[in-house]
Amino acid sequence: MANFETVTVETDLLIVGGGMAACGAAVEAAYWAKKNGLKVTLVDKAAVDRSGAVAMGLSAINQYVGLRDGANTVKDYVDYVRNDLMGVTREDLVANIARHVDSTVHLFEKWGLPIWKDEKGAYVHEGRWQLMINGESYKVVVAEAAKNALLQDGVGQIFERVFIVGPLMDGDRCAGAIGFSVRENKVYVFKSKATLVAMGGAVHVFKPRSSGEGFGRAWYPPWNSGSSAYFTLRAGAEMTCQEVRFIPVRFKDAYGPVGAWFLLFKSRATNAMGGDYMVERKPELEKWGPYGRVKPVPANLRNYLGMLDVMEGKGPISMRTEEALQKIADTYKDDQVAYKKKMKELESEAWEDFLDMTISQAILWAATNVQPEQRSSEIAAAEPYFIGSHSGASGAWVSGPEDLQTDDTKKAYFWGYSNMSTVKGLFCAGDASGASSHKFSSGSHAEGRIAAKSAVKFIVENNTAPKVDTAALNAQMAEILKPIDNFEQHKNVTTDEETNPNYIKPRMFMFRLQKIMDEYAGGVTAQFTTNKASLERGLELLGFLKEDSEKLAASNLHELMRCWENVHRMWQAEAHVRTVLFREETRWPGYYYRADMPKIDEAKWHVFANCRCDPKTGKWELFTRPIFHVFPQPAEAKPQGAASAR
Ligand SMILES: Cc1cc2nc3c(=O)[nH]c(=O)nc-3n(C[C@H](O)[C@H](O)[C@H](O)COP(=O)(O)OP(=O)(O)OC[C@H]3O[C@@H](n4cnc5c(N)ncnc54)[C@H](O)[C@@H]3O)c2cc1C
Repeated sequence: MANFETVTVETDLLIVGGGMAACGAAVEAAYWAKKNGLKVTLVDKAAVDRSGAVAMGLSAINQYVGLRDGANTVKDYVDYVRNDLMGVTREDLVANIARHVDSTVHLFEKWGLPIWKDEKGAYVHEGRWQLMINGESYKVVVAEAAKNALLQDGVGQIFERVFIVGPLMDGDRCAGAIGFSVRENKVYVFKSKATLVAMGGAVHVFKPRSSGEGFGRAWYPPWNSGSSAYFTLRAGAEMTCQEVRFIPVRFKDAYGPVGAWFLLFKSRATNAMGGDYMVERKPELEKWGPYGRVKPVPANLRNYLGMLDVMEGKGPISMRTEEALQKIADTYKDDQVAYKKKMKELESEAWEDFLDMTISQAILWAATNVQPEQRSSEIAAAEPYFIGSHSGASGAWVSGPEDLQTDDTKKAYFWGYSNMSTVKGLFCAGDASGASSHKFSSGSHAEGRIAAKSAVKFIVENNTAPKVDTAALNAQMAEILKPIDNFEQHKNVTTDEETNPNYIKPRMFMFRLQKIMDEYAGGVTAQFTTNKASLERGLELLGFLKEDSEKLAASNLHELMRCWENVHRMWQAEAHVRTVLFREETRWPGYYYRADMPKIDEAKWHVFANCRCDPKTGKWELFTRPIFHVFPQPAEAKPQGAASAR
């Protein structure tokens, strides 16, 4: 076995990940840990200041309910989320986040995040739920608060650049995590009484649109590679909504955000013939149950209408930036000075929107002579991603809060500790927890806080150190380092170390995975369409890929990380394909379309599709869980304000 030092760290609460949910968890855990004399450890594969989906910054906070102003109620938010997800939502989880999220946003402001204010001092809204921010340093601000909370008074410690591979188990209880440093030859063994998983979602499971010199560019950050899904699956946790991937429509090629354009500037998107698919294809919405009739139209249905245009050869689709800016400036047309001033202000807001969060889009505009006030820009549907905190829903099946349960839900949705998965001592937040979409950056932070407080309660009530079997631990270490051994053993068989009959390098492994998913599971090339035969063939090919994962090879620590990132992606892929196959209907056209089951089937499939992989046998089980309402429902879904489209 490769020569690595073993570092063992014993802690009470282990937080894996350093993104929005983990930073929220750190702040809350530090407070409760101090009161209870506990120790908290946070581990991130990167540097917390700039890690995760918010690394580059954001230009809006997408979840703010506005409870103190009476602007909305918690139920309003729950209704909005349920409608957007075509009826498939855990209302208890969404409500729990919605009632806490405003306080998280107020903390962000206290910590120094500039939130736009109008002349009366009120927050400037992008849409009903979204606040505009100067967010280039959003993550740095949030990280600083997390670090201060953990590192003050010796409550906690932080490990950066340590890649977590998987869970440590003590029977059916999670006993911590194991990983390795991406800078030094060290394996890290973290033993904990409770573990909180917050390692984000997954990208590059599907072949990206970008190729050649742009390869790797995606909307979702390339460093989140399905580690949350892998960790929870391998611990034996029940998973939910694994079929609900997210496909954002964004500015083409640089994936710039469209939210400010649709919501703030009220822009239209039109096809090559000048037609507006949201108007011309409105009758299509009637086919998608009550959800096609709500306002805002669910994100997947909006996607779908545009996709129908593209499939009919009416592309490209363009964001009419010039028209939108002109329309706003026109209200000043009788005063030339005011008109010019407004136009300048709009131009700078348009550029700043990209500079705050997707700098590459501003670079692409500059490089291709785009002046948004003069010409429109192409938008396109991206490749699919797994991001349970945004408009996707995939993640672990977790317990809701006790006080929000009804007679129906208390057995199905509650098992003692908020945000604990079905595995004892294993908590999830952000993208790691499922069926609670539209939490975004602020809601993920709030959910991290909720999960951390609950994890501390678990520790206080179950204050025994779990045992880790030494033989099992040694086997896990050997498995983690196997790619290094594979490389060392076989590297001299060929003159080019990239090509070898005895091993596969992670890059080639990733290409194979992406090709399978793209062609058989409804990626870009397959126009997001699939069917039973394709999915079954995809599963068969994933089976061969899994066999070959034993042969992954790494010539250095960076490649070792790449190997494990791709194993994580492969498990996310398998959970997805199995669940799309299991759900015999099309519920989210615009995210995926089952050509053999082309309709929504409310009677049979208004349920959660859940799965679990038995850690001992490797056998998958797929089953349904009921959808219950926590709030009384009107006969038909009602309109719920502006969509979020970032
Ligand atoms: C392009 C884009 C634009 C968005 N725009 C907005 C917006 O405008 N407004 C808004 O409110 N929200 C927005 N969101 C949503 C928001 O960013 C997410 O909801 C939020 O970041 C989710 O938090 P998280 O903690 O689950 O994941 P992340 O914040 O992504 O954090 C994941 C963490 O896990 C770590 N990690 C991953 N794998 C491992 C591993 N194996 N070992 C150790 N650590 C690991 C990462 O380094 C990172 O620290 C956007 C998201 C994306 C992708």
